[in-house]
Order: sequence, then structure tokens, then C-alpha cells
Amino acid sequence: MSNRKQTQGACGFCGRMMTKSGLSKHLKTCVKRQEAIQAAASQAASQPPIRLYHLQVQDRASSDFWLHLEMKGTATLKDLDRYLRAIWLECCGHLSQFSVGGWSGDQIPMSRKIEQVFLVGTELTHIYDFGTSSITLVKAVDVRQGQPLSRHPIYLMARNQMPEAICAECDQPATHWCPECLIEEGQWVTFCETHAAEHPHEDYGEAMPLVNSPRVGMCGYDGPAKPPY
Ligand SMILES: [Zn+2]
Ligand SMILES: [Zn+2]
Ligand SMILES: [Zn+2]
Ligand SMILES: [Zn+2]
Repeated sequence: MSNRKQTQGACGFCGRMMTKSGLSKHLKTCVKRQEAIQAAASQAASQPPIRLYHLQVQDRASSDFWLHLEMKGTATLKDLDRYLRAIWLECCGHLSQFSVGGWSGDQIPMSRKIEQVFLVGTELTHIYDFGTSSITLVKAVDVRQGQPLSRHPIYLMARNQMPEAICAECDQPATHWCPECLIEEGQWVTFCETHAAEHPHEDYGEAMPLVNSPRVGMCGYDGPAKPPY
């Protein structure tokens, strides 16, 4: 898409800023993460340990967008689908599916448990919307045995920061993009708050907010691109 440098994101445990692949390595050894894991273990000492999967999630079309999740092995693909919809994808309730072996690979039922489908190195393809498709790759990069860090199925360990965008009029950081310029001219144009308000719009409504999701600019997506918990 562009030649700017890779997006970074903060480690959710120690706050260090790193790239996606930097975090893949870092999260294995982060001291603060190890402390959190030990604290969870001592709080739930009477519970049987479970398998917890480190999932690296990325948008297939843009390497700017990625997540590092820790997910309970006993949770299901449905739980993962709900999470991806909430943080990145949901616009108008389109169909979705997981498959193994790429786009045209075998579909895997949503009821399947994480520990039944992932080994370290397994990569699944998630498709949301079979018209204007968002394609997400989910790869298991590590697994540990122990206590979860959250009562929810998924714990967000890191995500990319919002990719930088610049106002077409003034070079300030952009907050909005224009659907009309995209649909009529095929141009991806972004604006600051002030210039978004001044930019003329005739047929496609107001400029839309930029949010931290790979689905920006697709179908009617307008966020909020926030994790569900
Ligand atoms: Zn860290
Ligand atoms: Zn839609
Ligand atoms: Zn501006
Ligand atoms: Zn425009």
C-alpha cells in the first residue's frame, strides 16, 4: 500500500513498542508477562491448568493491522469470530467462516474448540463477508499450560497502533476519510477534523472517522474497532 515503516504496538504487559514480529518473540520472554502468569497461577492454585494459545492475527491485505491474543484452548472458534467482529469487522452482520489451507480450504465448524484445531504453526483463514471480503489470518505461534489471565475466552496482549494518515489539505494528522472521493474517483483521501468539515460532499454523506481496523473503507464499516472486553 505504501512505503512507510511497519506499524508498531505496545506490549500489553510492559508497554514496550514493537513491530508485530518483534512482539511475537518478546511476548515469550517479557518479564512483566511472566509475572502476570505467575500471579494468575497462584490465585487459582486449586484449578486444573488449561492450554492457552498465543494467536497472531493479521489482516491479509494490509500488514499494518495485527493482534496478539491469548486464547483458552477450551473456547471455540465462535468465540474468536465474535472477537474479530467486535474489534475489527462487524458492519452489517455478514456471514463468516474459518478454513484451513487458505481461502478455498476446508471449512471448520464454529463449534470446534481452539485446542482441537490449533497446533503451534497452524494457520487458519477467517473470511468475513463473501461480497466485500475481509480476510484475516490467524496463526498459533506458541502454547502454554497454566491459568488464564482473564475470565473471558480471549486476552488482548497487543495490537497495532492506528496507522499514520495525513490530511490532504494541511499535512496535519488525519481523522476522517471521504467515501465520495473513494467511490467517485477511486481515491483514498484523508482529512483532519477541520478540512473534513470543509470538504464538499454531494452523494455519499459526510466524511467517515478513521478507526483502527482493516475494514475501514469497506462496505458501511464505521467502527468502533474496540475490543469487546
Ligand atoms: Zn512486554
Ligand atoms: Zn457490511
Ligand atoms: Zn487539514
Ligand atoms: Zn471527497
